[in-house]
Amino acid sequence: MSDQTSSFPAEFRAAGTDLSERRRSGVSRGAIVDIDVASAMTEITWDETGAGHIGAFVTIAAIAADARIALNYPAFSAAAAGLATPQIRNVATIGGNLAQRSRCWYYRNPHVACLKKGGPTCPARDGNHLYGVAFDLGPCVTPHASTMAAAILAYDGTIVTTSRPMLQIRNFLGDGSSAQDNSLVPGELITTIQMPPPVPEAGFYKRAISRTHAEWPLVELVTRLSIADGKVRTASLVAGGIAPVPLRLSGAEKVLLGSAISASTIGDACSAAIAAAKPLPMTVYKLQLLRGLMHDVLGRLESNP
Ligand SMILES: Cc1cc2nc3c(=O)[nH]c(=O)nc-3n(C[C@H](O)[C@H](O)[C@H](O)COP(=O)(O)OP(=O)(O)OC[C@H]3O[C@@H](n4cnc5c(N)ncnc54)[C@H](O)[C@@H]3O)c2cc1C
Repeated sequence: MSDQTSSFPAEFRAAGTDLSERRRSGVSRGAIVDIDVASAMTEITWDETGAGHIGAFVTIAAIAADARIALNYPAFSAAAAGLATPQIRNVATIGGNLAQRSRCWYYRNPHVACLKKGGPTCPARDGNHLYGVAFDLGPCVTPHASTMAAAILAYDGTIVTTSRPMLQIRNFLGDGSSAQDNSLVPGELITTIQMPPPVPEAGFYKRAISRTHAEWPLVELVTRLSIADGKVRTASLVAGGIAPVPLRLSGAEKVLLGSAISASTIGDACSAAIAAAKPLPMTVYKLQLLRGLMHDVLGRLESNP
């Protein structure tokens, strides 16, 4: 949903874990639309190709607990199990997770104008951006908030909405060059998330966080890798918390493809991952965190090829 106009648009309410906080602060002031949920939107189903279709009202906890999801999409499953708290995961929906709004404290302050609210500038850019982006890709310097968006991007999933039946996740998210959190328009409802047919591979999710629980990550990493004859055959690496959109680490993927995972390959992949970084004065530390996550995750495959 967009609130870039001065009038406040109506917003759907799923579990309300994000929306209620914005209501309380006065950032969301339009009508609330509670949805008469079709049963398909609360279910996980599987088609003849083996691909999973996840209703937008399936909870994060249900995704994390689903054995077939864990088997077929291990990094996606681990991301669901790793976010927020058990209480939030039990009620929060995947649709609401994808459409949740920025955590930026300037955006969430009703007394501060910012680009996401139709204001003229991003106050975080010259203000306190300790939790901001390390890849400065657009006008707004707050990272995208959705862990599940990063996971779905790693799987090249598709979003189905009431007006767009085949919306690639990268088109749902955009490239970070606008201040919008996503490409939904007012009244457009996410109904389903379509995952690809599963393939044999390893999948991991790991986050760096400023306290042990109940917090968005400083940096998070979703990886999918397949290895045959000692060489990486497929690689998909996505980082969250470092850019206005979840970021595919294509440079690192290129380094890994066709190589054996060794200490030197991991070092090269880390360097490639951050080659295009444009950190802000307060966010250089995030690049070290990303390197650490990559060493940790890829190192597991080095010791267990
Ligand atoms: C302590 C804490 C820690 C957290 N940590 C993380 C974290 O690490 N990673 C992470 O990703 N999230 C985190 N969250 C956020 C949490 O995951 C989201 O608040 C939750 O997923 C939102 O889901 P919901 O069903 O409550 O959505 P709602 O609050 O109901 O809705 C959120 C937004 O999405 C829109 N919306 C909802 N459903 C749809 C739909 N089907 N179609 C279109 N628009 C829709 C609503 O209009 C609203 O604008 C955390 C939250 C808390 C409180």
